[in-house]
Amino acid sequence: MSPDGVLLVIVLIMTLTGVYIMFFWIPPEYRVCRWTTDDNADYNTWHGECGCEWDLDDGIPEENGMKYCPDCGRRLVQVISQSLEKE
Ligand SMILES: [Zn+2]
Repeated sequence: MSPDGVLLVIVLIMTLTGVYIMFFWIPPEYRVCRWTTDDNADYNTWHGECGCEWDLDDGIPEENGMKYCPDCGRRLVQVISQSLEKE
């Protein structure tokens, strides 16, 4: 299972006057979920790196209006396999 929710980034800044610690909260929508697909002509199944699995009737997630992973809520990034790019 991947960590969901908000990611905390801690930055340590050292200056002449002191050391500062900064915290950044990164909401899930700024992180990405990479989706890959099987090289299978019969089934258009996509796998997200969060572990989700979606069957699309046609096309790629972007063509189906999917901008965010429906499972983990992160921004969806398609990793197109080479065999699909050739078409
Ligand atoms: Zn996901």
